[in-house]
Amino acid sequence: RKFEDKDFMSLQELGSGNGGRTSVMKVQHVGTGTIMAKKSPRLTACLQAVLVGPRFDVQRTQRQNILCELQIISHCDSPFIVSSYGACFAEPNICLWMEFMDKGSFDAIYKRIGPIDVKVVGKVAVAVLEGQRYLYDEHRIVHRDIRPSNILCNSQGDIKLCDFGLSTELINIANTFVGTPIYMSPERIQGAAHTIKSDIWSLGITLIELIVGQFPSFDSDNNSDSECESERTTPADHRASLPILTSLGAKRHLRRSSEGASLQEDGGTTISIIQLMHQIVNEPAPRLPSRKFESDAEEFVDACLEKDWERQMGLAKLFEMPWIKGSRQNGVDVAAWTKTF
Ligand code: ATP
Ligand code: MG
Repeated sequence: RKFEDKDFMSLQELGSGNGGRTSVMKVQHVGTGTIMAKKSPRLTACLQAVLVGPRFDVQRTQRQNILCELQIISHCDSPFIVSSYGACFAEPNICLWMEFMDKGSFDAIYKRIGPIDVKVVGKVAVAVLEGQRYLYDEHRIVHRDIRPSNILCNSQGDIKLCDFGLSTELINIANTFVGTPIYMSPERIQGAAHTIKSDIWSLGITLIELIVGQFPSFDSDNNSDSECESERTTPADHRASLPILTSLGAKRHLRRSSEGASLQEDGGTTISIIQLMHQIVNEPAPRLPSRKFESDAEEFVDACLEKDWERQMGLAKLFEMPWIKGSRQNGVDVAAWTKTF
């Protein structure tokens, strides 16, 4: 369905992503009174600034592809995917009106209430796997951006994925300017194509973050000296990681990344995105603290974060793991849980 801004009343800003390049507003459709969330995606700024700027033009075919992706989004019908009401592609804006999820995203939730009970996180894992399976089986797409901020919850206890399936076209455009690579798998960082396995890696990172209440550190104890990265990196490694480096914006930018593109680790030390990407590729995968949580959960997270790509399980096998089977029937009432915050 085609919507226009004038059909909506803005109620409240729900959040913004990617350094302010996206905004999500709670809006109300004037005609019907329906509450929705309206997203002007990160692409907007990029398209605006670059593609429709004086030096570039959005290619007709590219625009077709983008529309095609928006169409897929509008045809999703799954209890594990945030549904879409309509989109607008009035240059230079791309807007998407979607189902409003009143409890917000899981990053906001754990930042508010602290680490999330592993049994609730089990329900999150089931929902994400179901969402991934739906996207793949029904639409042959992978999500590409699994992270706590793209997993939403409502007070009925539904847990759903949003922000998926942006066309390769759009992802490429967006990543040229804003890459947040921290949930990215080692393979992706090294320039491999995005597959369902990269999404499974991102799920593993996400689960640790929700259970522990903090984005995991990739810095293993015996290897905290990240100064000498150029000596440790073999020429082949270096070449392999170039596509992403380039797509994050010129190397020069990354050299300055300790001020610009940086992440705060616990304890107040700041590490640059390039250091973090180096660690993701070269250090052992993060794990849940051992024996602190259910061993089934530990085992599942380890399976998601298997660095040997050949050995990493696909969706079908992950569904069979004890933690997932157990979480389906663990008796946690997510709706009741959402009433606690
Ligand atoms: P990134 O841009 O890096 O993916 P992000 O996911 O936080 O980060 P947005 O996708 O712009 O950025 O979303 C901003 C915030 O808006 C989310 O973190 C979430 O809290 C909120 N939000 C997004 N979609 C909805 C929705 N359908 N219902 C309710 N809140 C939403
Ligand atoms: Mg998002």
